[in-house]
Amino acid sequence: MNYERLDLDKKDILLIDDMADNLRVLSSLLTKEGYNVRKALNWQMALTACQTVLPDLILLDIMMPEVDGYEACQYLKAWELTADIPVIFISALDDTFDKVKAFKVGGVDYITKPFELAEVLVRVQNQLRLRSAQLQILQLNTELEQRVKQRTSELEKALEKLQGEITYRQQLQNKLLDIALHDSLTGLPNRVLFIRRLEKALHGAKQNDNYRFALLYLDCDRFKVVNDSLGHLVGDELLIALAHRLKTIVSPVGTLARLGGDEFGILLEHLTDIDTAVQVAENIQQQLLLAFQLSRYEVFLSASIGIAWGNKDYERPEYLLRDADTAMYRAKALGRVRYHIFAPAMYQEAIQLLELESDLRRAINRQEFIVYYQPIISLATGRISGFEALVRWQHPRRGLISPIEFIPVAEETGLISSINLWVLQSACQQLQIWQNHPAISKTITMSVNLSARLFSHPHLIEQIDAIIHEKQVNPANLELEITESVIMENSQEVKTILQQLQERNIKLIMDDFGTGYSSLSYLHRFPLNGLKIDKSFVKRMQENHEDMGLVPAMISIAESMGMRAIAEGVETPEQLAQLRNLNCDFAQGYLFSRPIKQELVFNLLTTEPQW
Ligand code: C2E
Ligand code: MG
Ligand code: MG
Repeated sequence: MNYERLDLDKKDILLIDDMADNLRVLSSLLTKEGYNVRKALNWQMALTACQTVLPDLILLDIMMPEVDGYEACQYLKAWELTADIPVIFISALDDTFDKVKAFKVGGVDYITKPFELAEVLVRVQNQLRLRSAQLQILQLNTELEQRVKQRTSELEKALEKLQGEITYRQQLQNKLLDIALHDSLTGLPNRVLFIRRLEKALHGAKQNDNYRFALLYLDCDRFKVVNDSLGHLVGDELLIALAHRLKTIVSPVGTLARLGGDEFGILLEHLTDIDTAVQVAENIQQQLLLAFQLSRYEVFLSASIGIAWGNKDYERPEYLLRDADTAMYRAKALGRVRYHIFAPAMYQEAIQLLELESDLRRAINRQEFIVYYQPIISLATGRISGFEALVRWQHPRRGLISPIEFIPVAEETGLISSINLWVLQSACQQLQIWQNHPAISKTITMSVNLSARLFSHPHLIEQIDAIIHEKQVNPANLELEITESVIMENSQEVKTILQQLQERNIKLIMDDFGTGYSSLSYLHRFPLNGLKIDKSFVKRMQENHEDMGLVPAMISIAESMGMRAIAEGVETPEQLAQLRNLNCDFAQGYLFSRPIKQELVFNLLTTEPQW
């Protein structure tokens, strides 16, 4: 038997029978039906046949010498390669016992001899179909298993990739969160993160009565000067160095955060009393006494610190921050380089200031300002030479408010420009009325105070020109009072503006002379027409009868520089006499008249009082 000759498409049937005749008959029948038929006369031949090519079906005789059909079947079933090949027994034994035994040893069918050819064929076909169905199922099963395996490994790979993606995203998210919650310059927690920590601390205080914490709000003093003079890069370098220094102080005891710009927040938790917070503030102030060694400069920096004591009554962390901020502002107002502990009254004051500010905005639209006039007396003649325009605020609820209270607020908020220009306009209107009145001297002057803030106003000269033009006043009768802070900067812009005013023949008076820090050399460089000696010096003049304080010196400075001297705040006849003795040119004060309403000025002028 050579398997190479086997037709592979055909089903292969192995006939095992010791009777050659049987073999021949069956073989011819099956061959005719299109099967590949091989024959074996005994077990040995059958085994060889199987080892050569595995048959699809075996027809097996039972009664054979040496190895009988049962035994042969048992061998076939025991051998892995042949175990699944269907075996049909063919035997003359027709006893049920034999048939049962045949099935028991692994046969799938049983044909009794003498056999009907048609029956053999049908049974063979059945078993072959069954077998191929089995094989097909088997094949499908393996295919299925393989597919499942493949899909599983694909899924595993996809899962692995997904896991990688998730980790990457998680890392990215953490990074973004980190960026969102930290300051990029110093790496410190930022305001958002700080407020979260405060919130936690507040929560802690609400849960536990013994839990106490404090908040420090630190703001650098004059940091802007560093930025403006040394540049932002140096400013940044300084902030990093400051953050580092603060961190070494704060890290062991609390949380440090950069709240923005040159502001830092410090949260101190688990405190027993406020002293610990004060100690930290003092320690910071102490450490700031040492200079910062930057790459190109050595810089000194001081800071003002506000301290707020946390408690469970705070509804929101922002309120706590606000109070520490308010205390910090108070520290600044008290002269900087210090700390201040928040007290609830400060909150009230801050609120009032805020109210004042918003009222002030409305006051401009509602025209709640009025101008009072205070006469200025020529000491040579004893008669009124002019007036100073002084603004007041007719507040709808609070009544008349002094400029001392609201001018600083107006300056801080920038509202001063419109208020001040309005005063100038009103004063010029008044001046024009007086100038056109036949009973009033043509030389009468009008002094108007100009806030230093106006000098950064881009169209100041144009605005003044427009007012003079509209009100038709003689600029020679107009005097503008400026303070020392205006000339202190010694800037070219200010110089130009003052020169332009001088070109228009407007007089320039240095107000509150002696209270600022201007040096005499500065005075020299500006086109000033007069010095108004501050009332504090006039007041002291009377107290020190013998030496008259600085007033004589001030008067002679004015004289030597070709300026007039005007004494302010003259309240007593003694002061007047002394000033006359010193040859002071002009005087102003309650002795002559308080600032009065415009209606009263006319009476005063026409009665022509003399002192
Ligand atoms: P100032 O320009 O030095 O004005 C003189 C202040 O001294 C006025 O206070 C005046 O009422 C007060 N005074 C006059 N005589 C005496 C006196 O004999 N004794 C005492 N103790 N005080 C006297 P007022 O009107 O309250 O103005 C305060 C300051 O407000 C002014 O000081 C000025 O700096 C500012 N101010 C007033 N009006 C304006 C304005 O229209 N524009 C600007 N920018 N500032 C103004
Ligand atoms: Mg004045
Ligand atoms: Mg003054």
